[in-house]
Amino acid sequence: MTIEKVTVSPLLENCYIVGDETTKEGVIIDPGDEPDRILRRVASLELKIGKIVNTHAHVDHVCAVQAVKEALGAAFYLHPAEAMHFPRLQESAAMFGLSGARVPTVDVELVDGDVILFGSSRMKIVSTPGHTPGHCILIVNQDVFCGDLIFAGSIGRTDFPGGDYPAIVASLESAILTLPDETRLHPGHGPSTTVAVEKQYNPFLRGLTARPRATPGGHAASDIM
Ligand SMILES: [Zn+2]
Ligand SMILES: [Zn+2]
Repeated sequence: MTIEKVTVSPLLENCYIVGDETTKEGVIIDPGDEPDRILRRVASLELKIGKIVNTHAHVDHVCAVQAVKEALGAAFYLHPAEAMHFPRLQESAAMFGLSGARVPTVDVELVDGDVILFGSSRMKIVSTPGHTPGHCILIVNQDVFCGDLIFAGSIGRTDFPGGDYPAIVASLESAILTLPDETRLHPGHGPSTTVAVEKQYNPFLRGLTARPRATPGGHAASDIM
């Protein structure tokens, strides 16, 4: 599997391009800004992108979605609870100095436990509310695209509209701490890390315990490991 990171905008948001090496089919995660740079990288990788999947819809993660979607003819996947950010998207973009913000049209609603296929690869969707109500992490084998749930040495803020600190703690306990230690975490900002490193050094995980979630659907983040 190919994983390419393109860090965009003054907010240094990580957009990821993930490709299946055999079929050359790929997915773009969180195209936050600078669509031309993202499209150039897609072209140089010679990938066919059918899907854009977002972890959440904060302005720094969605500004380039519509432009990339139109250029590639891809479908956009987002959890329905994230539409709450759209009414203030232009205003927030202007505030952070982001260019060309357009509210993207959602083609497919993400559902907890769904699996999205690209080539022979499988991407599992796990709902992780807290940073935002509809935040999801995206799991492809031992690589987790974790948006703003967790960063190297930190966790997502919960003081924005829709943020919920007890909810992010529950998401970290059920969706991150239950993953195998060697799992690689690719956050929405900053460098990639692993579950083992964060368990040892991330001060926000101190005192938290791995708690598999007992939901009616019964999905655990580690189901496909
Ligand atoms: Zn965010
Ligand atoms: Zn962010």
